[in-house]
Amino acid sequence: MPLYDFRCPEGTVFESAFPMTTVPDSTTCPECRQQARRQMSSPRLSIANTAEFKLIDSTKRSAHEPEVVTGRTGATKQATRYTHNPLHQKLPRP
Ligand SMILES: [Zn+2]
Repeated sequence: MPLYDFRCPEGTVFESAFPMTTVPDSTTCPECRQQARRQMSSPRLSIANTAEFKLIDSTKRSAHEPEVVTGRTGATKQATRYTHNPLHQKLPRP
């Protein structure tokens, strides 16, 4: 069930879970027992904001909106010298 934000006249903000079809516009505040109005916000579904959800989201988005690559990847690293022995310079290279 999605979580909805409610705010009572005292200023207490709390979350409550309701089925999407029966979510009320107001409910009872757990602290002051007054009617708390539902805040306008998107309902938080259980998998929203998880790594799995972000991966699905970015995969879908990249289908029609590919990410721009600004440079070459992998080829920017300089060749590393592993030895300083001058005789090794004469060895065959792969
Ligand atoms: Zn309250």
